[in-house]
Amino acid sequence: MSRVPRIVILGAGYGGILTAIRLQKELNYNEADVTLVNKHDYHYITTHLHMPAAGTDNPENARVNILKLIDEFKIDFVKSTVVQIKPQERKVILEDGTLSYDYLVVGLGGEPETFGIPGLKENAFNIRSINSVRLIREHIEYQFAKFKREPHRKDYLTFIVGGAGFTGIEFVAELADRVPELCKEFDVSPELVKIYNIEAAPSALPGFDPELVQYGMDVLAKKGVEFKLGTAIKECTPEGVVIGEGELIKSATVIWTGGIRGNHMLEEAGFEAMRGRVKVDPNLRSPQFENVYILGDCSLMFNPDGRPYPPTAQIAMQQGECCAHNLVASLRGEQLKEFKFSMKGTVASLGKGEAIGLVGTKKMKGYTAYLMKKLIDLRYLYIIGGITLVLKKGKL
Ligand code: FAD
Ligand code: NAD
Repeated sequence: MSRVPRIVILGAGYGGILTAIRLQKELNYNEADVTLVNKHDYHYITTHLHMPAAGTDNPENARVNILKLIDEFKIDFVKSTVVQIKPQERKVILEDGTLSYDYLVVGLGGEPETFGIPGLKENAFNIRSINSVRLIREHIEYQFAKFKREPHRKDYLTFIVGGAGFTGIEFVAELADRVPELCKEFDVSPELVKIYNIEAAPSALPGFDPELVQYGMDVLAKKGVEFKLGTAIKECTPEGVVIGEGELIKSATVIWTGGIRGNHMLEEAGFEAMRGRVKVDPNLRSPQFENVYILGDCSLMFNPDGRPYPPTAQIAMQQGECCAHNLVASLRGEQLKEFKFSMKGTVASLGKGEAIGLVGTKKMKGYTAYLMKKLIDLRYLYIIGGITLVLKKGKL
């Protein structure tokens, strides 16, 4: 090990940025060299991306300059794309160089899981990053503009969202809120616009509280969302999606929110993974390489009943804090802490003024849940950027 141990953090998402922020508070001068690598010079607030994707918010509001969050005297920031992890050699290959480490933190986030469904990779959009949502927003507006030139093309005004998990539900809600504005802008009759949310399971938000799911579906149906439940998307073509016994629903816009997997680089690097997610030990380390911590959507952990925790920002943040603690403990030869997830609740936005949520055993819906969602957003901004960031990016 080098004289000053080297910690490299890959990804400045929820897990990575929390690790960096906690490390810069905890570490003493010259205790470690910490490098944070991210492909953009901004951190994005993934939990807001459904809004800029639909165009109900500006993408600018969903991103924060990383240098505003970290102390450059304590953490080196490298804007670059990771292309390979070499755990045996303790090296990370970037698009423009190589980094060596003593401790590695992998927080590269998830990737869309397509389950091998033909055509999804090529023909569907995903809500994953600032760039991906810019594309969706522009594409939607363009469909309205194209329809004015080719009014027989009803598929331009048909929007398909594959998967009614939390991402799908939050996005269709925003899209339904945006449609009246687009109809006005492009002189389009609202009844020509179709929004289908197609879900393979018999219910939207499978596993979530049935009463809240029903409430959410009622709110969205009133806004014009049509649900097709118990209906798996079998193929995605440039013309639309194939369901059932080969029925094609024509659409020029398919947005896939059917699930996520861990980053492909972990499997390529030889980490044992399930759908790209590495089952970490109780201290958040890879069982194969104990100097490698894996966080957030790239990691897999089980609850006391043996069921995997869903990949959320909430768990990624808590893992980031625990990981920073354990890194400091390792450097100081102290005992590592076991990660214990503290479930704060789940609140899903249903667009303007509406949400559903389960906080502890308390069910919330309507405007109260909407306010709760906004409070959760403000709390996150406060945690990463203090009151300055709350005032700059937060809004009720
Ligand atoms: P991410 O936050 O995805 O960050 C990964 C980082 O790594 C990014 O900065 C990315 O640019 C960077 N990166 C990726 N690849 C490379 C590379 N090769 N080289 C360099 N950098 C790279 N969860 C909740 O708990 N509550 C919510 O309300 C909620 N809402 C959501 C809404 C939407 C629309 C979506 C899509 C997800 C939502 N989630 C929510 C889930 C949550 O956003 C994720 O679980 C969380 O972002 C995972 O955090 P992470 O740290 O693992 O990775
Ligand atoms: P998900 O895996 O939770 O949901 C995907 C949905 O797609 C499932 O309901 C699944 O049945 C459906 N599906 C899969 N294959 C299909 C097919 N062929 N045809 C039709 N439907 C199909 O994925 P997500 O919604 O992107 O969520 C990812 C993670 O992010 C989850 O852990 C979620 O809890 C979290 N998240 C949380 C919030 C929130 O708390 N407000 C918001 C968004 C995402």
